[in-house]
Amino acid sequence: MTDTPRHGFDTMQIHAGSRPDPATGARQTPIYQTTAYVFRDADHAAALFNLQEVGFIYSRLTNPTVAVLQERMAALEGGVGAVCCSSGHGAQIMALFPLMGPGCNLIASTRLYGGTVTQFSQTIRRFGWSVKFVDFDDLDALEAAVDENTRAIFCESIANPGGYITDLDAVGALAQKVGLPLIVDNTTATPYLCRPIEHGATLVVHSLTKYLTGNGTVTGGVIIDSGKFDWSASGKFPSLSEPEPAYHGLKFHETFGPMAFTFHGIAIGLRDLGMTLNPQAAHYTLMGIETLSLRMERHCTNALRVAQWLEKDPRVAYVTYAGLPSSPWHHRVARICPKGASGLFTFSLKAGYDACRKLIDNVAIFSHVANLGDTRSLIIHSASTTHRQLTEAQQVAAGAAPDVVRLSIGIEDPEDLIADLDQAMKKAGA
Ligand SMILES: *Cc1c(COP(=O)(O)O)cnc(C)c1O
Repeated sequence: MTDTPRHGFDTMQIHAGSRPDPATGARQTPIYQTTAYVFRDADHAAALFNLQEVGFIYSRLTNPTVAVLQERMAALEGGVGAVCCSSGHGAQIMALFPLMGPGCNLIASTRLYGGTVTQFSQTIRRFGWSVKFVDFDDLDALEAAVDENTRAIFCESIANPGGYITDLDAVGALAQKVGLPLIVDNTTATPYLCRPIEHGATLVVHSLTKYLTGNGTVTGGVIIDSGKFDWSASGKFPSLSEPEPAYHGLKFHETFGPMAFTFHGIAIGLRDLGMTLNPQAAHYTLMGIETLSLRMERHCTNALRVAQWLEKDPRVAYVTYAGLPSSPWHHRVARICPKGASGLFTFSLKAGYDACRKLIDNVAIFSHVANLGDTRSLIIHSASTTHRQLTEAQQVAAGAAPDVVRLSIGIEDPEDLIADLDQAMKKAGA
């Protein structure tokens, strides 16, 4: 999909996938706000529908603005292709859809975004799929959970919200040993901090909503395919390896080789599930990605400053930021996310649940919202919001216990963020 030569990250985040508009010379990627594309003639239309020629048919499937974003994300993650979706949660369903069927299961880490725990433990059951949650630091348990109906292994690189870092090398090696694709949600890390494909991931999924757009303007998602998985080796992935009845018997893997997943995602996934990203959202996301590395550097240094200050404060019980040497996962930073541990972490107030809630009501710079990865600093009490649908045991496992507050540190002046937390903690009687 991408013919952009491999450059450094900062160059790729601005240039990969984009070129001056052939019609007008426009330097910035235009927003192609169109539903359909005129075919040159009947043969051209037939070739497009047969997937013999790559081009634009209808914007539920492909759109030139969205295509630039797909190429850029594939380049940044080191994959061969990408499929954009209408949300991060859409991307997760779209990643599993070609792999799963009724009766199939996936194995997922216990340390996941709360919405993902709910999606996997409840909603996917309607498709006849199921999940087994396992502690991904227990590789024996992970391997033991694999059965003949398992089709995928799923985790987050840096887990939201607990400051946990998955040992992707170990999990990737295990996935390879058992012949299953590893899907990594890289939302919290972004490809600037972590490149899961280099650690063995088959597919990488993102919520574009977070750091990639970076300013809280878009809901979107993307799946990046490494192109490295052999979908035909085991007979477990018939939608990719066998004649697919939903596309007049096309064998995707045989026809498209390493691009099989990407073509399947567009030709069947977007066509029939319709979780399509709109071109306006793709435009905002492309604007955001141009400054991704600069923002992530500042998110990381600010988060470390605030986390260090909180950790020394006697009102604070503990801080879970993998950038702190006190974190049990600090030793994984250098290997998994060498440029930093992102801007998301939690802390606990000794004064407990009520003080946490009062703290949130008294901050002035931090915004109380259910989002993360914004230029603005954000605060939330996960247990009563994003992780509310979970049992208390699941909340604790996910790092969202009732006395825990989650911060998404923005790119403001760190002194102002510290002063804001200090005054709010005083008012909360912490
Ligand atoms: C937000 C988030 C999602 C879901 O993304 P949406 O764009 O909100 O659908 C999935 N995983 C992680 C880690 C997230 O932070």
